[in-house]
Amino acid sequence: MSDADTILEEGPRDFIREIIRADLAAGRAQSVVTRFPPEPNGYLHVGHVKSICLNFGIAEEFGGRCHLRFDDTNPVKEEQEYIDSIQENVRWLGFDWGEHLYYASDYFEQLYEWAEHLIREGKAYVDDLSVDEIRARRGTFTEPGENSPFRDRSVEENMDLFRRMRAGEFKDGEKVLRAKIDMASGNINLRDPVMYRILHASHPRTGDAWCIYPTYDFTHGQSDAIEHITHSICTLEFEDHRPLYDWYIENLPVPSRPRQYEFSRLNLSHTVVSKRRLIQLVREGHVRGWDDPRMPTISGMRRRGYPPAALRDFARGVGVTKAENVIEISYLEHCVRDVLNKTAERRMAVLNPLKVVIENYPEGEAEELEAVNNPEDPAAGTRRVPFGRELYIEREDFMEEPPRKFFRLAPGREVRLRYAYFITCQEAIKNDAGEVVELRCTYDPATRGGDAPDGRKVKGTLHWVSADHALRGEVRLYDHLFARPDPGAEGDFTQDINSDSLAVVEDCLMEPALAGTTVGEAIQFERQGYFCLDPDSTPEKPVFNRTVGLRDSWAKIQAKDRVKR
Ligand code: ATP
Ligand code: MG
Repeated sequence: MSDADTILEEGPRDFIREIIRADLAAGRAQSVVTRFPPEPNGYLHVGHVKSICLNFGIAEEFGGRCHLRFDDTNPVKEEQEYIDSIQENVRWLGFDWGEHLYYASDYFEQLYEWAEHLIREGKAYVDDLSVDEIRARRGTFTEPGENSPFRDRSVEENMDLFRRMRAGEFKDGEKVLRAKIDMASGNINLRDPVMYRILHASHPRTGDAWCIYPTYDFTHGQSDAIEHITHSICTLEFEDHRPLYDWYIENLPVPSRPRQYEFSRLNLSHTVVSKRRLIQLVREGHVRGWDDPRMPTISGMRRRGYPPAALRDFARGVGVTKAENVIEISYLEHCVRDVLNKTAERRMAVLNPLKVVIENYPEGEAEELEAVNNPEDPAAGTRRVPFGRELYIEREDFMEEPPRKFFRLAPGREVRLRYAYFITCQEAIKNDAGEVVELRCTYDPATRGGDAPDGRKVKGTLHWVSADHALRGEVRLYDHLFARPDPGAEGDFTQDINSDSLAVVEDCLMEPALAGTTVGEAIQFERQGYFCLDPDSTPEKPVFNRTVGLRDSWAKIQAKDRVKR
């Protein structure tokens, strides 16, 4: 069994959960409070799924709670649209923050008071250097930084200037407030980091109340402290910021002392998981929007038909470690297929139709045959599928001169039509260009339901639809958004976009039972894959997205690995 399978079966065990178990056992924590802290500057993606499942999952497992907190300290990039989509996405994934919805902007007044506290203690100062000048004096990993000429201003002068910053007396970038820590620190984050910058920008929530905004680093740890977060879990890039968060916590009269733990980000092959890059894909029109079914956003995956349970399984399966890694996208698809196999009802649809006329079937007649909705779930019952003299089958299910291992239809050959009859191809009719346009077949009425009473066997079973009853619709077939597993590894990542990531198939023919499908509902088109109805559908023209094909390339890789071991 692979590690991922073990985790799915036995429940998650990872270093963070071990720490929590130990903290609870030793009485270092009485309860567990976590939080998921997105910045509302884009849509959530599959990387966030890992973080959401980890934080909300831990709260559930340990009987604690998980807050949803918007880290909204940068009014320039943040929008209400993103706030709304994030809440909707977290709920759709199956998690609930109850009454614990917070915004870092709710703490602006408290943070401001704490900034004054540090000034009063001589631990913060107003700097007139520009952002570029500050950066230039920051030093490197090997060389210390350089003190600002404004570092030794008096407490009174700093207080006066900071209050005037708040009052709007200065222009953007004219001054900043910095923590006075150590310009020679081995950790660059401790070299007098910026706490406040001037930004005459309207904030989605606080409007024009503020023209100075706290930095993320001055906000994050204190927000955790205000909310009494016990285990503040984040990704590894914040590991080097932890000493700074701890410095603020130690030097401020905060109501609690959260501890931060870092884990490695989720990376997924054949895609990008960075809001910056996803925004670029949307803005430059490489995809149709944030919820384009090729996007690794929660909205995109939802529209594509990925069930929330599959995303939760995926998050559990990839586990939580500190090791940098790239997860195969085929593992995500495997999780999706696994859930859909159990839940999706089966239907028949022909994507590339070839007409079949059953010559010995009475003209003008029709009948209904019984079809199983889901062989994995007897409770899903059966449905009736109309059959008549004229049918459509998949063009690729016929070959005039079949090679050895082609077991589908060919001249003179007998196959089964699923749930219906055995048919034998008598003749292939061609157009002037020599293309096959119609098959003339005969059927054996004794094989109704799909088996021959005399016990004779056929090697192929085909899906089909009745010409008189078929619905016409569009099908969208998706492939990976990027043509290589590591987009951007050799330059501009947009150059690696897979130009064949979307294939639109018009005029597909579908069995009439599909008329009742609702948007998002999962369906298996037999032999074709899992599909779901897209919101672009109209009553006249249904549009189906292919969620994922039937073949499981991840399971294959795993099986091979097992043999090798
Ligand atoms: P991006 O780099 O895509 O902009 P971010 O880290 O800036 O992501 P935030 O909104 O700040 O996005 O993230 C909210 C939470 O989700 C953070 O705790 C962050 O660590 C976590 N997170 C973001 N991306 C990933 C990822 N790829 N894997 C795991 N967790 C992630
Ligand atoms: Mg961020």
